[in-house]
Amino acid sequence: MNDENDVCFPEEAAPEQELLCIFGTGDFGRSLGQRLLHSGYRVVYGSRRPHSCGPLPQGAQAMSHEAAAQLASLVFLCIHREHYDFLETLTPQLQGKVLVDVSNNPKKNLYPEANAECLQRLIPGAHVVKAFNTLSAWALQNGPSDANRQVYLCGNGAEAKQAVAEVATKLGFAALDKGSLSAAKELEDFPLQLFPEWRMPLYVAVGLTALIFVYVVIRDVVYAFVEQGKDNSFRIMVSLANKVFPIVSLIMLSLCYLPGVIAGFIQLYRGTKYRRFPDWLDRWMLCRKQLGLIALGFAFLHMVYTLIIPIRYYVRFRLSANTISQIRENRTSVFDTTTAWRTDSYYSIGILGFSLFLLLGITSLPSVSNALSWREFSFIQSKLGYLTVFFCTLHTYLYGWSGFLRPYKWYMPPAYMLSLVLPSVLIVLKLLLLLPCVDRSLTRIRQGWERTDIDLPSKSSIIR
Ligand code: NAP
Repeated sequence: MNDENDVCFPEEAAPEQELLCIFGTGDFGRSLGQRLLHSGYRVVYGSRRPHSCGPLPQGAQAMSHEAAAQLASLVFLCIHREHYDFLETLTPQLQGKVLVDVSNNPKKNLYPEANAECLQRLIPGAHVVKAFNTLSAWALQNGPSDANRQVYLCGNGAEAKQAVAEVATKLGFAALDKGSLSAAKELEDFPLQLFPEWRMPLYVAVGLTALIFVYVVIRDVVYAFVEQGKDNSFRIMVSLANKVFPIVSLIMLSLCYLPGVIAGFIQLYRGTKYRRFPDWLDRWMLCRKQLGLIALGFAFLHMVYTLIIPIRYYVRFRLSANTISQIRENRTSVFDTTTAWRTDSYYSIGILGFSLFLLLGITSLPSVSNALSWREFSFIQSKLGYLTVFFCTLHTYLYGWSGFLRPYKWYMPPAYMLSLVLPSVLIVLKLLLLLPCVDRSLTRIRQGWERTDIDLPSKSSIIR
């Protein structure tokens, strides 16, 4: 039977593969060359030492910069910016060519102008396109993956950008046009970023952890040592750590949802959604996902630390000592139904809260959230999110139980009580926003309605 794939074309009909030139036989140049060859291009390298430049991808050849540049209409410059000066001597050969600048700098603001702009100034007759600099040599070698599919590019010539975008697409990447060459600096700064949106949430997490750790050490270790002469320092490793983690987790989870509630009250007060939020609130809202994910990390640690409680030496020792003393004194403890209810509820609510917390974390991953409709996403992140806050707060209240009425050591309330302040305030504020009359007004404002007596802001301050 004849299959479409069985059709044979005569050899002469195969189109000639396009030849591309790469300057520089270093890590990036070699990875790019290999990828281009695998994608059906022919590759020629321009090198200072064409005969001794080390192993090249199979099928590529190396020659002098002048000779290589003359053969191709598109040249990738895989060399560092500080070596660009020699390119001036190649101006005649590079005239009218598309020059792809892949370079990055070791740190921000090292030069007054972007590398690509410097290149354009050196060779004004060429069409410089900034591209591929956000990929690593390793990523190029391995080919595009889900998390690494985009090639950002910018340049002043539409045709030149089109030519580079076609190459990127053929290599399996999605080309994203970021505009003219003036965007090159932004693209060059991109690989230098070190988790910018994680910075603030991480500072908050470290600060809270340190603060609460010091607080529980004073309350549980220093107090016992000073007042009772007891050495409780061994409790630092597990007991105290397992106090700090859930507290930080609960506070950070509340911090993740608090800005949304504050924004709601601001909109109600202003009677419009068309006015900018204060900068601090904007910045806070932008790092909600990171706050939530760090909170989830702490909740996970709390879960693991809780699981090891039964195998701890201290716990096993206390259990056996208690049993032996009961046998010696010939007494049995009475089963307390209230305590059984309390502890079971405490664990059960904690497990439910943690499961919902996990769901929030999973749905915040781009690959999952992209598969959800906006309504599904906001249902999980908002409705189930507040339910998570509620469960985790209730879990902590159940943990405290009658502890709320006990006298404090050195006038210091237990740390879990302090951790309840923010989530309790958050829940009350959210409940206020859910009151039918308030909810109706807020919903109308968010649909675009504006109160008539408000001072309209100048157009420049309208963001959405
Ligand atoms: P590399 O391994 O040091 O290679 C640079 C190449 O430039 C050398 O192999 C050399 O090739 C050429 N070269 C060195 N000195 C030169 C000079 N004085 N004049 C002319 N050419 C010279 O660097 P790389 O990692 O491949 O990076 C190349 C460019 O890609 C850089 O601008 C970098 O910022 C950018 N980039 C790299 C990566 C990465 O993951 N490596 C990622 C994104 C962007 P010949 O000996 O053949 O002349």
